[in-house]
Amino acid sequence: MPTPHDVLRRTFGLEQFRPGQEEVITHLLAGRSAAAVFPTGGGKSLCYQLPALLLPGVTLVVSPLIALMKEQIDRLRARAVAAARLDSTLDGDEYRRVMTDLRSGALRLLYLAPERFNNERVRAALLRLRVSLFAVDEAHCISEWGHNFRPDYLKLAHFARLCRAERVLALTATATPPVLADVCRGFAIAPACAVRTGFHRPNLTLRTTPVRADRRDALLASSLKGRPPGPAIVYVTLQRTAEEVAGRLAGAGLPARFYHAGLADEERAAVQDGFATSADAVVVATIAFGMGIDKADIRAVYHYNLPKSLENYSQEVGRAGRDGAPAECELFVCPDDLNRLENFVHGDTPSFAGVHDLLREVFAQGEDFGLNLYELSGTCDVRPVVVSTLLTYLELDGWLQGGTPFYAAYQFQPLKPSAEILARFEGERRDFLKAVLRTAKPARTWFHIDLDTAARASGSPRERVVRALDYLAELGLLTLRADGVRHRYRRLKTPPDLEALAHDLHRRTLEREAREVARLNQVMELAGLDGCQGERLCAHFGETLAAPCGHCSWCLDGGKPAKLLPRAPAAIDEALWREANALRGRHRETLGDARAFTRFLCGLGSPRLTRDKLTRERLFGALEQVPFLEVLRHAEEPSGGRG
Ligand code: ADP
Repeated sequence: MPTPHDVLRRTFGLEQFRPGQEEVITHLLAGRSAAAVFPTGGGKSLCYQLPALLLPGVTLVVSPLIALMKEQIDRLRARAVAAARLDSTLDGDEYRRVMTDLRSGALRLLYLAPERFNNERVRAALLRLRVSLFAVDEAHCISEWGHNFRPDYLKLAHFARLCRAERVLALTATATPPVLADVCRGFAIAPACAVRTGFHRPNLTLRTTPVRADRRDALLASSLKGRPPGPAIVYVTLQRTAEEVAGRLAGAGLPARFYHAGLADEERAAVQDGFATSADAVVVATIAFGMGIDKADIRAVYHYNLPKSLENYSQEVGRAGRDGAPAECELFVCPDDLNRLENFVHGDTPSFAGVHDLLREVFAQGEDFGLNLYELSGTCDVRPVVVSTLLTYLELDGWLQGGTPFYAAYQFQPLKPSAEILARFEGERRDFLKAVLRTAKPARTWFHIDLDTAARASGSPRERVVRALDYLAELGLLTLRADGVRHRYRRLKTPPDLEALAHDLHRRTLEREAREVARLNQVMELAGLDGCQGERLCAHFGETLAAPCGHCSWCLDGGKPAKLLPRAPAAIDEALWREANALRGRHRETLGDARAFTRFLCGLGSPRLTRDKLTRERLFGALEQVPFLEVLRHAEEPSGGRG
């Protein structure tokens, strides 16, 4: 049997392990679950790729980033390692090939996204395998104390047990001590097997610069021009800001481009590739930029807008200076950013009425039922991501059991007249098809067909309708596409007190809100700290520095804290409030709830505001400049606010 060092050299072509890698790999090969907390670029993937080649069964790698999976698989295949991914873009043949390779034991690593586990077919296939290692990337998502809690990660821990994974490896770049404790508890990892490598990066200069909004562009341009040359990233919050700032920098003669998730794939790839090979490019980007950038010589990272947490901040500055050479990081601290960032948090907190409506809707269904999350979001006035979180809570607490999502509807475009299609069939089959096609509703060029309606009309099961449409598509008689994904659930028990359950779920959403706002406050605290900021940042991630870092603003300014600018005073105009209240009176159903009313005034959209066209009202967003919680306090006063 080859040793880990042999595999490192022969298969991966590397000379020695990086800090932490060998320790993690030793735990895993000895049969112990482990956690790897290494900074981005620290070499986490080797910690499962290498053992995967030495363990008898398959290694499952769960990662939410499909682009990263593809890249890793290509690299592994180039080294003759059998790796594949299981995602929703595979066609029937590709899926079968992966399954065959899995069953024969040919595949060493299988990558999949967390939501794949909702698919019963995938789940059943995985349960038959010998899973030697279950590796979970971005494992901090399992923790409610983390900055990126995803309840579906709690389901992952459950699945790791279900498929009798022989060991688990949890990987993350950012975990505070409480988050790491949660990760270890969730995946049953002994704390002694959690390996954390040094977080402190002595080559990074960390500056925090208080700045007024109207002076920010000039300051950025002069800072970019005055620094030593090299590639730089400027992080902003909004896509629009990325475009505007890049435009202004380009106008000032800097080689700046912008990047955000709203760009077409080709444009994104062009900016990313240009940056990867350039020695002086400046990219102004939202946080979508950076995942999967494997560039060691980034010389500067700017935060034009405040990051939303210390976790985000450290991850983003962590992209600078991976080659170990000096790099500059500068955080612009502009209090005008706070409202917007807080509003992102508040916009995701549902009203109690919304949660209650959602529960009523869910528990009024039969024992087995399908839900369209967007429809539910519209009826309950709760944002789709939040609907999804609430349903996951119901699953985790044992009220519901989730099944494979399915399609409620199809759309098709006939390639032949329907008479000609029907002429190919006879007898009962023809009557069946006739009944199915008759339920199709014409749109502009496509026809919509609701599967339940078609099944009822033809007196046949849904599956037969689906098979028939597939068959017609195969014969080239029509083009088909699936539409309207529905999530399938089974009710396991009925809550005795729906209102109490609604209060419980709503409380959790309020707790999340408070935590996220507190996270933002931690960023402000760091910026204005009278003490070494480097030390504070390390302490947040559980590392103690022996002495002040010497390269943060506080250390560089001779132990003086930065003077933060005050938040602009925001008064609520009496006349405006009266007008808003009158509007609230006319739209009781939508604006009656204090939170819903506050969202409206702070310019935060919701499904019902859009439906009632209230987002087009003049008063929508009229109090955008006032902190959300202040508006909410007003809206909650018994009279509906003063005046
Ligand atoms: P992470 O997942 O921690 O962000 P990766 O696993 O993507 O980091 O590794 C980052 C880079 O470091 C990759 O290019 C990888 O090939 C390289 N790398 C990993 N381990 C070693 C090693 N032991 N020696 C040299 N390079 C390594």
